[in-house]
Amino acid sequence: MARLAQTHGLTDIQQEIVSTVRDFVDKEIIPVATELEHRDEYPQQIVDGLKELGLFGLMIPEEYGGLGESLLTYALCVEEIARGWMSVSGIINTHFIVAYLLKQHGTQEQKDTFLPKMALGEVRGAFSMSEPGLGSDVAAITSKAVKEGDEYVLNGQKMWLTNGGTSTLVAVLVRSDEGHSPSEAAAAPHRSMTTFLVEKEPGFGEVRPGLTIPGKIDKMGYKGVDTTELIMDGLRIPANRVLGGVTGRGFYQMMDGVEVGRVNVAARGCGVAQRAFELGVRYAQQRHTFGKQIAQHQAIQFKLAEMATKVEAAHAMMVNAARKKDSGERNDLEAGMAKYLASEYCKEVVEDAFRIHGGYGFSKEYEIERLYREAPMLLIGEGTAEIQKMIIGRRLLEEYRFQG
Ligand SMILES: Cc1cc2nc3c(=O)[nH]c(=O)nc-3n(C[C@H](O)[C@H](O)[C@H](O)COP(=O)(O)OP(=O)(O)OC[C@H]3O[C@@H](n4cnc5c(N)ncnc54)[C@H](O)[C@@H]3O)c2cc1C
Repeated sequence: MARLAQTHGLTDIQQEIVSTVRDFVDKEIIPVATELEHRDEYPQQIVDGLKELGLFGLMIPEEYGGLGESLLTYALCVEEIARGWMSVSGIINTHFIVAYLLKQHGTQEQKDTFLPKMALGEVRGAFSMSEPGLGSDVAAITSKAVKEGDEYVLNGQKMWLTNGGTSTLVAVLVRSDEGHSPSEAAAAPHRSMTTFLVEKEPGFGEVRPGLTIPGKIDKMGYKGVDTTELIMDGLRIPANRVLGGVTGRGFYQMMDGVEVGRVNVAARGCGVAQRAFELGVRYAQQRHTFGKQIAQHQAIQFKLAEMATKVEAAHAMMVNAARKKDSGERNDLEAGMAKYLASEYCKEVVEDAFRIHGGYGFSKEYEIERLYREAPMLLIGEGTAEIQKMIIGRRLLEEYRFQG
């Protein structure tokens, strides 16, 4: 049988990378994922394996020791990894976004300092926009940086920091009203934000003077990977750790990072949906009711048909969004659509696979139980469905402006 979600037109190198990752996922991730997830255990051995494969440097340019691969190659690897365990793709994702931010917006000194170590996985990235009082409304950020001599002093509380404990370099978005009067800053909040590159020790507690990572947030799913708060209380950051060297650009830098992150979340949705389909189609041929396999009941076959169609459609949109970015074109519309569709379809495919499992889907012994708790995260991360629809809607009105 031809597998679902094939990608045509890949180079030999892309095919080799993706099939190596797929083998790794089948051998090293799938057999242990559910057990580690139930224990909420960090998958150190898997992370070490990914380091060896060079995945932390996949999109980092070769001149900095990375593999210099495209967004498409990256997204296809993420799809494979999420098929094995979504949390592992989360470990790579924030690292990838910070490396992308440095590549696109960093000063030469910042690139030279961080990218080679990031390519090896020695420096590990996380990014922090959300606060207890906001997520979607990034412009409402209240954490603040104030300049004192050659340094900035940062204060405020951040929320939902994926890899908050394990990372050693956090891109933190804060308000810095420098050069703006309070009324100007209020009128253009996007222009008074700055991204700081905050180096820290891994772990919990006070990881640098003025910076505390309190502990892991207990989550419904997406376990194994640490998600934390981040508290800045008089945190001093030198001026040369302002991303790109100039204040006031942080909002636009972060939005650029989140845009490639959306392709990545779409890829995660594709991977989880593929796994759910695999589990559903297998179980449907094992379970018998009323004298035949449940797969032979038309209602179940229809479910499988719908699931497979969704897997194909989501994959095609995700690949299209990645290719558009790789060609140098603006891809916010395609990335928003791919993220929206892939995350919604993922949730639906997982639910259908769960229903096919009958009562056993409710048992922790079956992998689908884990997927059922993981899929909802994709509806939220990197912008909720409502935010994607706002982006899509605005872009459509730009493209289809009524000229009457
Ligand atoms: C496991 C996990 C990991 C995360 N990791 C990170 C991370 O690494 N870094 C980081 O910065 N953040 C991270 N986040 C935060 C995430 O980006 C936010 O949760 C998300 O953006 C939504 O923000 P919110 O939770 O504040 O919801 P809100 O913004 O409060 O939204 C609540 C509801 O209102 C809807 N809504 C909001 N505004 C509108 C509007 N204008 N029109 C219509 N509906 C609207 C939303 O769609 C949602 O349904 C993570 C979150 C989770 C759960």
